[in-house]
Amino acid sequence: MCEWCYKHGAGQKWYLNSKNYLRETALEVGAHDYIFELWKQFDKVYLQRIYGISMKGPGYKFRIPLVGRVLRSYVNGWFRKERPVKGRNPRRAEGHPGQVVPLEDAKKILELASPILRVNCACRKMTRGINDPCCLAFGALAEMVPKLPRYIPDRGMEPLHVDEAQSFVEEMNTAGRINTVWFGPMPYIAALCNCQQPECAAVRLKTSYNLQFLYKGEYVSKVDLSKCDGCRACSSRCQFGALTFSHLMNGPFIDAWKCYGCGLCATACPQHAIQLVERVSLPALKEVW
Ligand code: SF4
Ligand code: SF4
Repeated sequence: MCEWCYKHGAGQKWYLNSKNYLRETALEVGAHDYIFELWKQFDKVYLQRIYGISMKGPGYKFRIPLVGRVLRSYVNGWFRKERPVKGRNPRRAEGHPGQVVPLEDAKKILELASPILRVNCACRKMTRGINDPCCLAFGALAEMVPKLPRYIPDRGMEPLHVDEAQSFVEEMNTAGRINTVWFGPMPYIAALCNCQQPECAAVRLKTSYNLQFLYKGEYVSKVDLSKCDGCRACSSRCQFGALTFSHLMNGPFIDAWKCYGCGLCATACPQHAIQLVERVSLPALKEVW
C-alpha cells in the first residue's frame, strides 16, 4: 500500500476509508475555501506546472541536472503537505495528490462519496477547448460548483445517483479513460476524474517531469498467456507505454515497472487473461509509485 494508505487508510486503501469522505473531515481541513481557490485558478496552476510560463513556473528547469532534482524535491513537498502550520497554498496544489484507480475500486469509491456531481473537466477545457463533463465532484467540491460556473456542464447541473455514477465510469472505462481519485485537500477526498493522455495534467506532470502529483495505482497487471488467444483487444489500451503486443508470444507483454495499474487492458480482454495483482505483493514493485 502507498504512504497515504498507511497514513489515511485506517488499515485499508486511503480512498476506501469512509472517514475521508465525511463533511466533518471537509470542515476540519477547510476544504471549501481550498477547493474554491484551487479550482478558480486551475489553469494558472496548470500553466505554471506544465509549461513554466510564469516567472514562478519551474518548466524547463526540471530537466537541468541537479537543479532539476532539487526543484523536483521542493515541488513534490508542496503536494505532500499534510498539516501545514500556516495553511495550505491552493496555487501550489498543496495537499492535493491523487492516484490511479482501476474500475472496480472507482465503483467502490462512488459508494462512499456523496453527493456526486458531474462537472466539466478543467484539463480537457484547457487543452482541447471543449466542455467535457467527465469528472465527478464529491461533497465539498460539489457544493462549491455553483460558485465556479465554468465547471457546470452545458446542459446544467448534473447530480448523479450512485448507480448512475457507476454506469458512467463503466462507459468512461470502455472509452479508454483513466480513473484517478483526488485528495482535496488531504485527507479529504473531493473528486474522481476520468481523463486520458495527453490531456490529463496530472499524468503529464508525472510522465514529463516525474513529479509525484499522481501516484501509480495499488495494482500491477499480469498476463496469463494460457488464456490469451491473441485477439489484440488490449494492444492499444495502455497510455503509459507499459503494454506491447509480442508477435513472438502472440500476446501482450507488460513491463511491470511502467504499469500504472489502471486496468484498462484487463477490462478490454474478452478472455479474462489479464488480472490486476496487488502492488504490495510484488517485492520489487511495492515501493514503485
Ligand atoms: S499495462 Fe494495463 S494496467 Fe498497466 S498501465 Fe497499461 S493499461 Fe494500465
Ligand atoms: S485482449 Fe486478452 S485475449 Fe486478446 S490479446 Fe490481449 S490478453 Fe490476449
